[in-house]
Amino acid sequence: MSETTHGPGARGARGPGVHGIHHVTAIAGDAQANLDFYTGVLGLRLVKRSVNQDAPTTYHLFYADAAGTPGTDITFFPWPEMGPGRPGAGLAGEVSFAVPAGSLAWWSDRLDRHAVARDAVETRFGEATLPFADPHGLRLALVETPEDRPFAVWPGSPVPPAHQLRGMHAVRLVVRDAAPSARLLTDVLGFAAVGEDGGWARYAAAGGGSGTLVDVRAAPEARLGAWGTGVVHHVAWRVPDDAAELAVRAAVIGAGLRPTEPIDRFWFRSVYFREPGGVLFELATDGPGFARDEAADHLGERLILPPWLEPRRTEIEAALPRLREG
Ligand code: ZN
Repeated sequence: MSETTHGPGARGARGPGVHGIHHVTAIAGDAQANLDFYTGVLGLRLVKRSVNQDAPTTYHLFYADAAGTPGTDITFFPWPEMGPGRPGAGLAGEVSFAVPAGSLAWWSDRLDRHAVARDAVETRFGEATLPFADPHGLRLALVETPEDRPFAVWPGSPVPPAHQLRGMHAVRLVVRDAAPSARLLTDVLGFAAVGEDGGWARYAAAGGGSGTLVDVRAAPEARLGAWGTGVVHHVAWRVPDDAAELAVRAAVIGAGLRPTEPIDRFWFRSVYFREPGGVLFELATDGPGFARDEAADHLGERLILPPWLEPRRTEIEAALPRLREG
């Protein structure tokens, strides 16, 4: 055991820690195709229709359970002009979602009926897993879990409640050298190593379970990945509140990394940094949440801008493609 020193604000040798996946953000191609797939095929709810706060003439679309429960949320920047990304080292490679035990036969049939490119069901870490890709090439998987996760049924979904996605299950990271990434996860972010399977090392936050998992594979010879359509932009980890976010941020600085200042994303506060393998991580607070600026039963119906972009609404709306909802 080596002594670990953290910056001011950190508590204990393992750091204050994160408590699971908050959201994953990926780059999509055409916005309409993205919306049709995530709501019409996977049955998620569009809980927020907004813009990329750093490039506000691009949408930022958020899909989740009915309530936008933290950990159920996958978000996209539809950026067709970027061209396809290149999977590889330094990127998150696959996002998996939890589904109830016994659901994969139903889902295999549904993906086939919608002509979605999928693999056969395989077993990973003892869990039945169905890998597939979205229309822009993003690697996804559905994983059967008996766990009863916090989840709000979406009555508007084409997917029956018994088979609806329960939230993100795990993310996969590919890095050239796994040891520094593993040390960040365990010594700074509070993950525990919980097993290895098929060349992947699994880490779990906050006591483990669906929604707390990250799988890391060392690929020393892999070429570096590059952002573009069909790849993950960043993985956001849950922290309960601003104080916890600052404590984890201090621990990240103590580990020699360079996080941003906390940024107000309006629905949560965010800190970004690259982990040692190059993957962009975010810390995101659980609150205030998506119902801050829309009634919970009207989430996602209109374009929502954070207050500082509201004066540019006319210009922004004119630059965005129109979206039709199924
Ligand atoms: Zn984010």
